Amino acid sequence: MEPGTRFKVYCSECREKVELPAEEFRLTLGRTPAQSHYSFGCPLCGASVRKQAGEKIVAALTGAGVRTMRLVPAGGPGAAGAVLPSGGTGRAEAGG
Ligand SMILES: [Zn+2]
Repeated sequence: MEPGTRFKVYCSECREKVELPAEEFRLTLGRTPAQSHYSFGCPLCGASVRKQAGEKIVAALTGAGVRTMRLVPAGGPGAAGAVLPSGGTGRAEAGG
């Protein structure tokens, strides 16, 4: 995997083929694959394009390091809160 992976996509607004780096994409994962989509800003017309993301696209985007946002039901009964233990600062003194 190389840093700076780029994807060629079609803009649904200006119908132009554009090539954008992975960092320009946003991937949203819904509860079902049908609710998953990715979005990007077209550099040509400035439109915010959003398209449905299939399994292959999701795999490709996540593999390239695209920012992924997972949709979770608001106020769900099983709201899991992960509490990370605060790590202590390792103090090291140089002894003679
Ligand atoms: Zn466009």
